[in-house]
Amino acid sequence: MPKIYLIDVTNRDGVQTAKLGLSKLEKTMINIYLNEMGVFQSEFGFPTTRHESLYLQANLELAEMGALRPIRLGGWIRAIVGDVETAFKMVPNIRHLNLSISTSIQMIESKFQGRKKRGDITSEMVEAVDAARALGAETIGVNAEDASRTDLDFLIKFGLAAKEHGANRLRYCDTLGYDNPFTIYDTVRALAENVGIAIELHCHGDLGMAVGTSMAGAKGAIDGGQDVYINTTINGIGERAGNADLVAIILAVTKSKGFAEKYRLGGSIKLSKAWKTAKFASYAFGVPIPINQPGVGANAFAHESGIHADGVLKDPRNYELYSFQELGRGEPELVETGTEICTGEYSGISGFSHIMGRMKTAVSFASREEAKEVLELVRYANVESQRPLVEDELLFIAKYPKIAKKLLTLAPLE
Ligand SMILES: [Zn+2]
Repeated sequence: MPKIYLIDVTNRDGVQTAKLGLSKLEKTMINIYLNEMGVFQSEFGFPTTRHESLYLQANLELAEMGALRPIRLGGWIRAIVGDVETAFKMVPNIRHLNLSISTSIQMIESKFQGRKKRGDITSEMVEAVDAARALGAETIGVNAEDASRTDLDFLIKFGLAAKEHGANRLRYCDTLGYDNPFTIYDTVRALAENVGIAIELHCHGDLGMAVGTSMAGAKGAIDGGQDVYINTTINGIGERAGNADLVAIILAVTKSKGFAEKYRLGGSIKLSKAWKTAKFASYAFGVPIPINQPGVGANAFAHESGIHADGVLKDPRNYELYSFQELGRGEPELVETGTEICTGEYSGISGFSHIMGRMKTAVSFASREEAKEVLELVRYANVESQRPLVEDELLFIAKYPKIAKKLLTLAPLE
């Protein structure tokens, strides 16, 4: 039976969201948390973007060292040969890529404005796939941007061409969140049956249905005999109204009525990491988690009205579909209300040593020199993030100073 896998795109769609961004260290932490959660792949960035290249290389080194394993790290580029060549020049070790090109008449006519015709779309895509294979790509996903506004016949031809040239997956992009669960089921099932390739689902929430359409699309792909890879983002952060939320997708696949009996997640997903991961993304993006967010919202397990409170006190299952413990919630959290020492871009050695020595996993340094070296990296991390680093970030820098140095290095205008 084909399975459902998760490809999280927080470090690609999430960071290209208007008004939001992450530092390279924060992006690295997201990859680490996704790996801990058992997510199959992180779309970790843009290999053709100059300021991403050292971050991408550093994360691939972490993968080689085993610190980011088994998660797969995949880059996103346009499906043109020039981008493929640039990607391999700037990030030679990249092995997993998604190549993206618009397929709808709307986009071809109104975005490319006569520069590309429909036939060019397929030929440019297959040339890019060939180039990526030749340069060493191990897996390739081909993205049909605006697939939900593309006619099915063209999508099938596009998908068959991608498959013929060795693509591993076809990403069906509901770029504008236009699909509903009924339409996406039919389309994706037809693609799975007629193209015979694993399907990726990239759904947006413009009509409030990103999780629902992803679920229906997943059913369509599996009923059509293919594995399916759902694109998610942490806390649903993504372009405009956002993407399918990672935690909500895991809950929907595993807890919704009758679904998990036939449609199963591949690999081993650790829902217990959901709370930590969602909280970090919220902090790093500077975007609060809505109180009614599935699983991780402040009200997800809160009850006030008499009948509900009475029912939950008798048995939580009366009014809770799943338990807070499953999401890794329930631990008390300490908030400093008195004197507080924080890390920052102007921190000094005394305050820094104090912070490192007081953490849950306390860190002490062999020498003042060593502490100073780590402090210097922490200062640079703060230059980028402009918010005090969390304990996991400080531990990461202390454990991997060389990697941290690499991903914190930004050198514009070489
Ligand atoms: Zn998107």
